[in-house]
Amino acid sequence: MRLNFTKNMLLDLVYPKRCPICGQPAPFGSGICPECRRRLPIIETKRCGKCGKPVEDFEKLCPDCAKGEHLYDRGLGIYMYDETMRRAISELKYKGRREYGEVFGELVCENARSELMYWKPDCLIPIPLHPQRARERGYNQAEVIAHAISEKSGIPTRTDILIRTMETDRMKELSAKDRTNNMIRAFSAAGDCRGLRRVVLIDDIYTTGATIDAASAVLRSAGIDEIYFLAVCIGGGFMVSY
Ligand SMILES: [Zn+2]
Ligand SMILES: [Zn+2]
Repeated sequence: MRLNFTKNMLLDLVYPKRCPICGQPAPFGSGICPECRRRLPIIETKRCGKCGKPVEDFEKLCPDCAKGEHLYDRGLGIYMYDETMRRAISELKYKGRREYGEVFGELVCENARSELMYWKPDCLIPIPLHPQRARERGYNQAEVIAHAISEKSGIPTRTDILIRTMETDRMKELSAKDRTNNMIRAFSAAGDCRGLRRVVLIDDIYTTGATIDAASAVLRSAGIDEIYFLAVCIGGGFMVSY
């Protein structure tokens, strides 16, 4: 353990962790500069009671959720998926900036403290990547985010419950329902779900909800009662006008 700590410290010196927003070496002991943190596009307007997307003051649910098609209980993304976040998330996923996931996990945890207390989840479940994709990338960004939330909240992360058995093709042309069905085939429940009643799915971006819906369908048929989600960002869909 001690050896590990020393090795990490040394790695920090040789490869300093960078701030996900400005890309400069982050202040020691914090993954993000205080001024960059203030620039993050946090959602402060009223949110949809189901998916957490911004809604007008008079609305309880967004137009999508009013149709009642989602398969999870509820959830939220903390930030808008604007240009700043798009760049940071893309570097997390494709440029090996694993540390950005750690910072975002901590920020999600801080901003969703009351939800986590209210939901009382038994565990966090990161949306799995196909093993081959994870090998190419070196890590699954959702797992990095989940572990950072675990570290701060004490809620364990389980990576053995939901697995990815298939890679999915680009699904831009598909309708929301077809996307969900396509994703359901890509996931399966594994591991020991006994004792799990309430779980929180973790992902980097929530857009149409197809991924979270598919994961929820699979977990529900494995006997899990309450399924929530937390995402770093909310993007796409109708709320581009906000
Ligand atoms: Zn910065
Ligand atoms: Zn909604």
